[in-house]
Parts: sequence; structure tokens; C-alpha cells
Amino acid sequence: MTEIKLYNTKTRKKEVFSPLDADKVRMYVCGPTVYDRAHIGNARPVVVFDTLYRLLRHVYGADHVTYARNFTDVDDKINAKAAETGRSIRDITDETIGWYLDDMGALGAMEPDEAPRATEYIPEMVAMIEELIEKGHAYAAEGHVLFAVDSWKEHYGKLSGRSVDDMIAGARVEVAPYKRNPMDFVMWKPSKGDQPGWESPWGYGRPGWHIECSAMSRKLFGEKFDIHGGGLDLQFPHHENEIAQSCACCGEDTFAQVWMHNEMLQVEGKKMSKSLGNFFSVRDLLDQGYAGEVIRFVYLSTHYSKPMDWTEKKAKEAEATLRKWRALTDGIEPSMSAASTVVDALADDLNTAGAIAVLHELAGKGDAAGLKASAALLGLLSDDLGGWDAAIETSGDVASLIENLLEARKEARANKDFARADALRDGFAAAGVLVTDTAEGVVWELASDFDASKLEALQ
Ligand code: AMP
Ligand code: ZN
Repeated sequence: MTEIKLYNTKTRKKEVFSPLDADKVRMYVCGPTVYDRAHIGNARPVVVFDTLYRLLRHVYGADHVTYARNFTDVDDKINAKAAETGRSIRDITDETIGWYLDDMGALGAMEPDEAPRATEYIPEMVAMIEELIEKGHAYAAEGHVLFAVDSWKEHYGKLSGRSVDDMIAGARVEVAPYKRNPMDFVMWKPSKGDQPGWESPWGYGRPGWHIECSAMSRKLFGEKFDIHGGGLDLQFPHHENEIAQSCACCGEDTFAQVWMHNEMLQVEGKKMSKSLGNFFSVRDLLDQGYAGEVIRFVYLSTHYSKPMDWTEKKAKEAEATLRKWRALTDGIEPSMSAASTVVDALADDLNTAGAIAVLHELAGKGDAAGLKASAALLGLLSDDLGGWDAAIETSGDVASLIENLLEARKEARANKDFARADALRDGFAAAGVLVTDTAEGVVWELASDFDASKLEALQ
């Protein structure tokens, strides 16, 4: 069996991956808070962990891997959007989940086996909070329940490498009168008015964010599982708090064995931000004409542990490469398994850039079957993601056909062959090509009822 090595943020070492149960490899990845379209940064963990999922399925067998990714569907940002728009929370979260699955699907991401919604696991969260109170790791105060960091002081901060005292000195923590230690974090909070809420032993309220992943992974996977992933921005406080809750509740050595964090994505060398005007959703890129497969390729060209820069130049290069590879593998059935060199690259802490280098070698040797089978492990060159290259080629053909026909119309006019010129004019209109004579020359555009076959008949 292929030996997989993964860098474990918890131990700060690259380690041989050894699942708790090779028949049931379990991976949990923190998913989106669903109130808006996913931005292109949010898609990075999706593509990274989708590729790891494919590798795990390849090595352990598709039926022996379970991938869970949650939807945070209770959050103040969702409440704010509901208040702003007058729409119901469920309406907003359902719509956003639909968008998310479509957009991530367009990037070739497989849907996880489990996609738990936080609001469907409230009893499990309440039960876990009660256990933590019983064990002396949490306390109720003014309708809130807080995790008592002091009860877990020697462990808290291990993942992110900070001590509680350093955190207090450096953090912008919310100081609240009901907190025993400023680092104590909320597991339950009171709800009023339009805020979503559930009855609980501490009154009507709603869960904090961190408890959701602790309670859902426990319900779906049990107290111990293999891999926990997410973006580096989640390492502290989200993952640190998940660990505190789960391990204080179930035992020091429980919860995720391997922690993996993808680095952040930026755009043209700058942090993405709405004020810089470089903030894109995945849907924006798709609408601008970038194929999902091209976006995926760009992501995989950088190792997940390195900051990744989205640039137009990279997208152009990715597109050129994929066009070549698609032409080479056109009509090829993936009849063989992935090249061992590609598997080995991915097994080395998900070295996707190295795997792509091997794909280039296979393409260079003209090994179409090997290329197609190996690319599948990276979620590339699949039939599902195809079509974009053909569509663009056809539109190139259409453009040259229109140009030729306009040239023919010009010649017909010059030769006083008005019957031919008029036939072409009427033919353009019937085919849905809008032709306008301007001072700068003839310009054309395609109407929504454009019909290529009518255009071809004009030749
Ligand atoms: P959120 O909905 O903000 O909780 O984020 C969902 C996922 O996207 C988390 O795993 C984040 O770590 C990840 N993420 C957010 N911004 C970026 C970014 N700029 N680059 C890479 N990952 C990100
Ligand atoms: Zn989480």
C-alpha cells in the first residue's frame, strides 16, 4: 500500500499517515458560513481537501473513506442578512448552500459524504456543553455558557504554539463581565427578538461557532478520527477551541490525530479585500469566462502550505496547458490506473505541484492514457469538467465564419451582386448575428437566439 506522509500542524512534523482504522478513514473539514457566495479564498480548502480525499480513496478504497464538511447555518452574519433583506434565515441558508455546491462542483470538487448543518445538531451541542459543565470545564453565566480556559491551561494553545498568558497579552478578546478569564470563549449565548434560538438548560439561546464542529464530528465520527482540515486562519482560535472542547470532554488523546491547514490565497500579490476591488467570488470568475478546471489547475499549482497568488497570467498558462492536454486525451478511455510517480508526489504531503510536473512529463511523452488516468487523481481532465475548451474553439470558428461572410458581403456589394449581399444581410439576421455598419467599420454581436447552423448554411 502507498505510504502517505502528511505535515501535521499539531506535531509540526511531516509524519507517515496511519489511520486509526484503515477500513474507515475519517476526514473532517471546516466548511463555510452560509450567507453569501463563496469567495475564491474559500475555495482553496475545498480544492485542497478534495484532492486529499481523492488520494485517500485511491489508497484505501472509495468505500473506506468518509469525508465530512459542515455548513455553519447559524451565525450573526446570517442574522444580519435576514434583517437587511426581510428574508427568512432558512431561505438564505438554503439558497447559499445551493450556490456553494454548484460553484464548488464547477471546480471539480466531489461532494463530501457528510454535509452536516449546524442547526440539525443542536441537541448534540447542548449535551456536550452539559458534559463540559459537569466536568468543571465550563460554566453558565448570564444566559451564556463559557469554556473555562483555566481548567485546560496546560493544553490550551498547543496547536497554534501560544500560551494562555501570551494570548491575553496579544489578543483583542472581548472582555465581558461574566467571563472568569478574558480568553474564555462562548459555547452558548442567549437569543432575543428575531435571533434564531432553541430552548436549553441555560434559557432560550443559540450555540457559539466552535462547539458545532466538536459536536458534529463526534456524532458522525466518534471521539477519535484521523484528519481535521481547514484554512490557516482557523488554527486560532477556532481549532484551538474545538480541541479544548472535545479533549476536555472526551479525553486528552481524543479528537483529530492529524491537523492540516492550507495557507491563504491572495490576488495579484495583494490580500483580497472589498476596498481594494480585488475581491472575487468563484461565481465571478466563472462568469468572467474562466473555466472551473482552469481555476482548479491554478490552485493545484501551488503547494497547499504556501501562500497562493491568483493571477491572470497563471490562469492563461493553465488554460493553454489544459487545452493541449485535452486535445491529447480527447476520446481516450481512462483504461489504466494513475502513474505511480503521480501517486507518489501526492502521497508526499499532497505535493500537487510535483504531481503536475509529472503530468507534463507524461504529456511530453505522448502518453495520453497515462495522462488521463493520472490527472483524474487531481480531479483534472474529467469528462464532467470538459466542454469548455470545445465551446471556446467553436466560438473561435464562429468568429472566423462571420468575418468570412462579412468579407463576402463586401465583395458582393463591390461587384454589384445585390441579390447575394441582401441574402447575406437577411441570413445574418435570421441566424441571430446583429451586424451594424459604423464609421469605424462593420461590428457584429451574437443575439441570444443565435443559431450556428443557419450561419453555416450561408456559406
Ligand atoms: P469561512 O466561511 O470564513 O469560515 O471560511 C471557510 C473556509 O475558507 C475556511 O476553511 C477558511 O480557512 C477558508 N478561507 C477563508 N479565506 C481564505 C483565503 N483567503 N485563502 C484560503 N482559505 C481561506
Ligand atoms: Zn470547525
